[in-house]
Amino acid sequence: MILLLASHNPHKKKEILKVLPGQFQIKDLNDIGFFEEIKETGKTLEENALIKVRYLHDRLKLNCIAEDSGLEIECLDGAPGVYSARYAGEPKNDLQNIQLVLDNMNGKLNRKAQFRTVIAVRFGDKEYLFEGTVKGEIALSPRGEHGFGYDPIFIPESFNQTFAELGDEIKAKISHRSKAVLKLLDFLEKQT
Ligand code: IMP
Repeated sequence: MILLLASHNPHKKKEILKVLPGQFQIKDLNDIGFFEEIKETGKTLEENALIKVRYLHDRLKLNCIAEDSGLEIECLDGAPGVYSARYAGEPKNDLQNIQLVLDNMNGKLNRKAQFRTVIAVRFGDKEYLFEGTVKGEIALSPRGEHGFGYDPIFIPESFNQTFAELGDEIKAKISHRSKAVLKLLDFLEKQT
């Protein structure tokens, strides 16, 4: 089965593929040469994921999936959350986002946070949502080279290293995205 993923982010395709068994292939928007920017104007991850599948379904009349993810930090009342990609403003910049998080958490003792992913599926006129979360805490400074986004400052529960230090294999076993993809997989297997 080929799944169309409403994303231009190659990290998302790679991480989703790592969890899906071999009979599933993913084509993202780069693969199909679709370079329109889909404006993520929602106030929640759920709204944004749905905006992306609806946009693509309207434009291309194709079944598709989309995911929206964010880092939710307890002492910042859930920020950056749905605004994770552009927390430090336009154009989006991972290093500046990380620095702003660390600045805003300066002196805070509660460093609890979670990553959350919402996957939206649009099959015909039906829509479905699947969620995955991973709890952890925010490091005092960035560490590690793997992954993307806030990975260098996120230490998942029961580990001492950041996602960027732990690397792709461990991240694939425990991440928010992997948990949401496993729920998607369960759904897809029931469709056939
Ligand atoms: P979006 O889902 O494309 O809107 O991206 C949300 C933003 O959240 C990304 O640009 C990253 O900054 C951050 N993010 C989402 N998932 C992850 C992850 O697995 N690791 C690190 N940062 C992430």
